[in-house]
Amino acid sequence: MKMIVANWKMNGNFNFVNKFVKEINKVNSPYEIIVCPPIALIGEFKDFRYHRGSQNCFYEEKGAFTGETSPQLLKEIGCDYVLLGHSERRSIFHESDDLILKKRNAAIKFNLKPIVCIGEKNKDGWREIVSDQLRLFLDNHMENTIFAYEPVWSIGTGVTPTVEEIEIVFDFINSLTNGKSLLLYGGSVNANNAKQILNSRNVSGLLVGGASLKIDEFTRIIQD
Ligand code: PEP
Repeated sequence: MKMIVANWKMNGNFNFVNKFVKEINKVNSPYEIIVCPPIALIGEFKDFRYHRGSQNCFYEEKGAFTGETSPQLLKEIGCDYVLLGHSERRSIFHESDDLILKKRNAAIKFNLKPIVCIGEKNKDGWREIVSDQLRLFLDNHMENTIFAYEPVWSIGTGVTPTVEEIEIVFDFINSLTNGKSLLLYGGSVNANNAKQILNSRNVSGLLVGGASLKIDEFTRIIQD
């Protein structure tokens, strides 16, 4: 089953979640839907018929790590997935591949499915950037790691790669992972381009930012 993951980033509030859950629960989606809201809102999703995810986690189980949330606790509050290494975490919070790897390993240990985000800032040299970001993850956890290819130049810009470009990148990633990991595409997905991207070769799902905050548009994206 192909996946559609919503990344709300630091958006949404209690009122919006209630409307979102009510409307999205009416949709019989053929896809695996995962919504990643700000973690403070997760309790409001108790009646949600689909999956919940977190936008981040720490790699320790507990302890003196002010402001962090453990993967074990995320599991306890109902998350099944966790986004890791989103480009905003890499650029604003200076997350390194080493740190993201530790978080990925901790997520797997506590039964959370990790979605590791990768992608180049500028189109030129994408092969080097993508293979560099993947390097540490080409290990025996590949089957349990989902990768989201999100070219940074496409995030929130309304500009997407062509289907041909996506297929070239995904073929390249698959050649590095030996096809062992599910691959998602993210970056300016909307109701008009979602199906075409979702049907591209080797694409197992979508990561949707801005369009997941518009209930009507997200409904169209997740419908058959
Ligand atoms: C994202 O930041 O994960 C993302 C996919 O954003 P957008 O869809 O808004 O480009």
